[in-house]
Amino acid sequence: MFAKVIIDQDAKALDKEFEYKVPDGYELEIGMRVLVPFGNRILQGFVIELKNDCEFDENKIKNIISNVDDFPCIKKEMISLMKFMAQKYHLKLASILRLFIPSQMREGKVKDIFESYYHLSENYKDIQIKSSAKKQVEIIELFEKNITKYFSQTELKDFSQSAIKSLLEKGILIKEKVKINRTPFVISKEDKKVTLNDMQQNALNVIKENKTYLLHGVTGSGKTEVYMHLIARALNEGKSAIMLVPEISLTPQIMSNFKSRFGDSVALLHSGLSAGEKFDEWKRLYSEQAKIAIGARSAIFAPLENLGVIIIDEEHESSYVSESNPRFVTCDIADFRARYNSCPLVLGSATPSIDSYRKATQGKYQLVELPIRANGKELPRIQIVDMMNEIRMGNSGIFSNQLLAELYNVVNNKKQAMIFINRRGYSSFMRCRDCGYIAKCTNCDVSLVYHKEDNRLKCHYCGAQFKVLTKCPSCHSDNIQYGAIGTESVTNALKEIFPDVEILRMDNDTTTTKNSHQKILSKFANSRPAILVGTQMIAKGHDFDDVIIVGIVDADQGLYQADYRSTERTFSLITQVAGRAGRSSIEGKVILQTYSPKHYVYKFASNYDYKGFFRKEENIRETAQFPPFTKIIRVLFADHDENYVRNLLKICYNEIEKLKDEFGEQIIYFDAMKSPIKRMQNKYRYQILLRTKLEKADEIENRVFDIVDKNSKNSVFIEINPQNMT
Ligand code: ADP
Ligand code: ZN
Ligand code: ZN
Repeated sequence: MFAKVIIDQDAKALDKEFEYKVPDGYELEIGMRVLVPFGNRILQGFVIELKNDCEFDENKIKNIISNVDDFPCIKKEMISLMKFMAQKYHLKLASILRLFIPSQMREGKVKDIFESYYHLSENYKDIQIKSSAKKQVEIIELFEKNITKYFSQTELKDFSQSAIKSLLEKGILIKEKVKINRTPFVISKEDKKVTLNDMQQNALNVIKENKTYLLHGVTGSGKTEVYMHLIARALNEGKSAIMLVPEISLTPQIMSNFKSRFGDSVALLHSGLSAGEKFDEWKRLYSEQAKIAIGARSAIFAPLENLGVIIIDEEHESSYVSESNPRFVTCDIADFRARYNSCPLVLGSATPSIDSYRKATQGKYQLVELPIRANGKELPRIQIVDMMNEIRMGNSGIFSNQLLAELYNVVNNKKQAMIFINRRGYSSFMRCRDCGYIAKCTNCDVSLVYHKEDNRLKCHYCGAQFKVLTKCPSCHSDNIQYGAIGTESVTNALKEIFPDVEILRMDNDTTTTKNSHQKILSKFANSRPAILVGTQMIAKGHDFDDVIIVGIVDADQGLYQADYRSTERTFSLITQVAGRAGRSSIEGKVILQTYSPKHYVYKFASNYDYKGFFRKEENIRETAQFPPFTKIIRVLFADHDENYVRNLLKICYNEIEKLKDEFGEQIIYFDAMKSPIKRMQNKYRYQILLRTKLEKADEIENRVFDIVDKNSKNSVFIEINPQNMT
């Protein structure tokens, strides 16, 4: 017997299948980790194929030394998935396999833990013990009082160890080792049983085939309830399920909802778990003790077989695309697994990505709609406030008079408010505070980003650079705003206005420690009046009945990110944030402050008109030649050695440039430049950007990959339609 083995090393030279001989009588399975001799080292690898014949000279083939675990940690489906990913994303085989198992397991750092349990033997009464052995008698009495109970080592820790030992030796007590699962803590609550309404029931009836469904449901339409029913159906059929949520909305609420419905059938996989918890949850899935995997992006690799449904909630979220190597698009993987298992893939959202909705209009996805809230409540009214007007009226503060009036009302009535700041990353724009003019790229029609280090405005799509504004080109005012408003300044301003009110802040800076999220939220939940200030983090999933006002301080901040998706993201955020207001009996209201009140995104968002927005945005993308009508390919070069990257860039640039002759008009844009962030983690960054038409996009992409593969070992990352242009 021979085995094809992938060496678990992140090196390009080892990125292929190696053949080894399986010693006679040795039991190996496909997917097992093994130790193999390699040169003069012993390395770990994965068996991906077993066969009877050998492609090489049999006498030169070395023997496999041993297996690492006693079970195949990579299942059959995952070996096919590995091949798919290698082909699609040009990733190294070992780096793909590493995604499939808990990282700590690879380094041998986590192991199963066991605890010893004790019980009385069947014939313990026949065994003599001296009545003077008081301690032993005491222990026997304890066990007799709880005759069916197994006592753990911990429970017996107050008894003399020597007494226990001698009872074991006599055969009165029996000791058994039991594997202990480290399970993540989840707040328990009562399961709220609801009857599906007609639209939810319809969704459940429709979603059953081996294809992709786009579940478009307004906030509060009860999508989660549909997901739970889909999962319950899969379990009833003896199948398993994966449900993905963005990391940011993996709130304790979501987790306890699922735990209370499905109990121990649920395993959670997310970044907040300890290594031991991750390992044990993974094993519970692997061994089918748990049949539902819930988690962020990487839970798509859950070791489940026989999937009955895969769900991606908030499918529009950018966190479903991994930004660091190994790069992959979660939806591609979900699609592969759904097709492999012949089950439905459900993409759910109140604001689907333009890309997904377009696929639904083209019939590539089947659209399923939930157009009204499950509790029958209207969506809260969104009022647009023109901040230019405020300035003209002499109010140049952060808050408009309307928002202030509403906040006073909240405070006087001992209710709650949320103030949302639409801020992404650290980039900032330049804006005229008198007329609202925003500096945009003359080539690309995206906002320019202000770079403080060299005091310039830059376009993240074409690399063009512009002088900073000192005077507004439109109204000649010199009242130019640099940068953006942050959560801290908003919180401080509120504390000055309302010194006696609980003002809480939630953003990346205030949630660095474990459970800090939960602490802030529970403090908010228990305070009246209270105002919670936050970023994207407060936009999702939280149900607070007393929140009657949601303020969006500077809605434009997200709009003027140098990103062709910034309008789409702004639409989505406004919708999500608005969904936080008026969840209970009191009518909620949203105050949206903007310097560009006429921007189409606000018109559509304030009317909850997703379809109108989609048509407009689709049109704009087509005219401006952005995805989904084109493909953007970014080749990022990053290395500690600047000369090395520059050289590499030059070589690749020259070769890619030749593609222009071959593909002609298919390549709309091509250039090389320093990356917007020129140095990151001490690596110098350069990039080549291409934008191509769709007809030959895959072919061009493959050629670019080949050129890069040929010329570099590491240091180069290729991204398709990157989520982030820094
Ligand atoms: P979404 O995920 O679409 O924003 P949720 O699933 O969070 O919406 O549902 C919003 C609220 O409506 C939840 O409190 C949920 O318990 C409730 N709900 C869902 N379906 C029903 C139903 N059929 N009848 C009554 N309440 C429901
Ligand atoms: Zn540009
Ligand atoms: Zn101006």
